[in-house]
Amino acid sequence: MFAINDNFSRLPASYLFSEVARRVKAYTDAHPGSDVIRMGIGDVTRPLCPAVIEALHRAVDDEGTAERFHGYGPEQGYRFLASEIALHDYRERGIPMDEDEIFISDGAKSDTGNIGDILSPSCRVAVTDPVYPVYVDTNVMAGRAGRLMEDGRWSNIEYLPCTAGNGFVPALPVTAPDVIYLCYPNNPTGTVLTRGQLEEWVDYCRRHGALLLFDAAYEAFVRTPGIPRSIYEIEGAREVAIEFRSFSKTAGFTGIRLGYTIVPKELKGRGADGEAVPLNPLWRRRQTTKFNGASYLTQRGAEALYTPEGARQSRETVDYYLGNAAVMLDGLRKAGYECAGGVDSPYVWIKTPDGMTSWEFFDYLLTRHNIVGTPGSGFGPSGEGYFRLTAFNTRENTIRAVARLEK
Ligand code: PLP
Repeated sequence: MFAINDNFSRLPASYLFSEVARRVKAYTDAHPGSDVIRMGIGDVTRPLCPAVIEALHRAVDDEGTAERFHGYGPEQGYRFLASEIALHDYRERGIPMDEDEIFISDGAKSDTGNIGDILSPSCRVAVTDPVYPVYVDTNVMAGRAGRLMEDGRWSNIEYLPCTAGNGFVPALPVTAPDVIYLCYPNNPTGTVLTRGQLEEWVDYCRRHGALLLFDAAYEAFVRTPGIPRSIYEIEGAREVAIEFRSFSKTAGFTGIRLGYTIVPKELKGRGADGEAVPLNPLWRRRQTTKFNGASYLTQRGAEALYTPEGARQSRETVDYYLGNAAVMLDGLRKAGYECAGGVDSPYVWIKTPDGMTSWEFFDYLLTRHNIVGTPGSGFGPSGEGYFRLTAFNTRENTIRAVARLEK
């Protein structure tokens, strides 16, 4: 019989969201009619904005005419969208960007998961802890993670704890990793890094020849002046960093799918012969071989986000979620909870009270207040003792949930 990729067998079952669903179902079965409010959802709830809907309709009509029909498009995305991205997301903010450094895709999950294809299996990896699980699991699949230890960590991955003890600011690595994943604004802690802190990371990567994989899926939530929305706001970042962006949380594209990845032309890794090799053509080759492009419809939809109406409407939606986050943060603090995040982010990260574990607090909130959230321990060992609530519910439900907690 043929052999499988055994790395997949070594991955523990993904237990977090199925266990949440199981416990909620057990509770609602036992208490029919209970009014459970879901504050654990990582999906958005507001509809696509009108400018996007109109653009989608027009694109559908295009596909129905022989003249404007679009079949296979460029694997790295249409120029009409790449030029808007380059202009509005970068150049207008003082960041140089060429269109051929932009790779449009079906989302940041695919790209953060696939980027390892162009890196050596021998690369050593560092992640912040707690962490978006895709970074760890895809490195397990690629054979970079080593073995799973009893404490839930993988032996070849360096975990950089982010807890109340260090103000959720990761310390620089000590094992000289080749690849470092940073996600800011952070999922799950909802915290951001200042310009000075990001400068330290870029400087570290330049000195150590490390690659920075910067996930900016939540950049649209940044409102505090001075907090960088792109890693390329930091001088020298073009030589060390790949940036991932998503239209999911910023414009409600979780269902219709679209994101993009920036691979600057200056960014180089080392080949087997020791020579420096640019990553941009490698990622282009990877995408043209394994990906057939995001749909024409979705890209036309996203193009509309760069019109004045589209920009205003999508900003209003993000503001709505930020308003929910502010309601949560205020109410939780009044109720005596210690919280992080929730300012430039849709996530509020709560310290569980009275030394409860994350799952004990989950059960407490569910049974006492009929509120569902996500146990922090599901995001990594340093998430134990923490709990994530999201701002993606309606304002009404957010207010009701907070009122229950304040009681
Ligand atoms: N990166 C982070 C940190 C996320 O939290 C998510 C979604 O929850 C993604 C990427 C996935 O984004 P997309 O919907 O574009 O695949």
